[in-house]
Amino acid sequence: VNNDLKIFEELESSVRSYVRSFPTVFKKAKGYKMWDINGKEYIDFFAGAGALNYGHNDEKMKKKLLEYIAQDGIVHSLDMATEAKANFLEKFNEVILKPRNMNYKVMFPGPTGTNTVESALKLARKVTGRTNVISFTNGFHGMTIGSLSVTGNSAKRQGAGIPLQHVVTMPYDNFVSNNLDTVEYLERFLEDNGSGVDIPAAMILETVQGEGGINAAKFEWLKRIEEVCKRWGILLIIDDVQAGVGRTGTFFSFEKAGINPDIVCLSKSIGGNGLPLALTLIKPELDIWNPGEHNGTFRGNNFAFITATESLTYWETDEFEKSIEEKSVKITEFLNNIVEKYPELNGKVKGRGLMQGISTPIEGLASEIAAKAFENGLIMETAGPEDEVFKLFPPLTIDNEGLEKGFKIIEESVRSLVA
Ligand code: PMP
Repeated sequence: VNNDLKIFEELESSVRSYVRSFPTVFKKAKGYKMWDINGKEYIDFFAGAGALNYGHNDEKMKKKLLEYIAQDGIVHSLDMATEAKANFLEKFNEVILKPRNMNYKVMFPGPTGTNTVESALKLARKVTGRTNVISFTNGFHGMTIGSLSVTGNSAKRQGAGIPLQHVVTMPYDNFVSNNLDTVEYLERFLEDNGSGVDIPAAMILETVQGEGGINAAKFEWLKRIEEVCKRWGILLIIDDVQAGVGRTGTFFSFEKAGINPDIVCLSKSIGGNGLPLALTLIKPELDIWNPGEHNGTFRGNNFAFITATESLTYWETDEFEKSIEEKSVKITEFLNNIVEKYPELNGKVKGRGLMQGISTPIEGLASEIAAKAFENGLIMETAGPEDEVFKLFPPLTIDNEGLEKGFKIIEESVRSLVA
């Protein structure tokens, strides 16, 4: 361990995890690059776990924020009406909701992904008067008691001593085998009154499971899940905290599946430049909150409204979506090539858009590849219940040069470990 990490070793709680995976002290970042205090440069294929889809310190967002600060713009305002918030709501409606024919009320549930998930679960229970929720194997929804209870990874739950309460975890698309029709299974389960499961209030799922191993559900599977929800009067909550804001190629990860969720959870990159912001999108007829029923001190950070509003200009034309698609094809080609060239990996390419990776059944190998890549100047996370996937998660704004540099480091790291 680098000596510079002494203060973290001495004073910071042992709960820290990224300090161990990326053992250096970072100082500066721009676009897809980060630098540590020794001046070493890193390519960022991690992007703040999805909070930095537009890269670090985007110039336009930075400029708007500096102007706002110089004018003594309001920083903190609870959920009071502010000009910065009004501008954000207007732009979100014009650039994101209206062109997609979407009609949602926007709730500010608190600053984090976990906050939007909590608000969605609470609202679904309030609207339906039911308590049960269906979650899916390998889903990840957050670390508070409610959001953790719908997280389908038992190791994460047990770490906090949380049993499943009023939650039933069902198999995600392709979870058991290609031969099990998981939607059929789910519906038979709902029909089986003898199992003692009351009709759930909601189902909550990610269209591509980020932490759970970059598992991408087929669009057809999502469509069928939506049909089951409609048939049973169950609310469909899509957790787009990680897969949303362009990560899979479209602003919302479910656009191409053609589904129409009742509630959508957004956070991470919705703030634009890494500032904390979360939204819960609610179908208007379900927005039955009474004032004060879900509050919190940090709902609506005005700095985040400034950068978030600016970030939406990326979505004013379809150029950005096209560029994400082009990069996603390049990443798939690169990963297919790696799997072919290094059969020792026994690798499988997974994911969608700029949320792809390779899983390998060889124990510990994905983590070793990520650690080697770090030594070689690239930041990359692992995912999946056994950390069996290394995950390529660059900012969506990365250019070809950055992608190529990253590819080179990943290939070198794989080669040095398996070839
Ligand atoms: N949902 C998903 C899909 C996530 O990936 C995450 C964070 N990794 C969360 C919820 C929780 O977000 P936060 O860490 O901001 O609470």
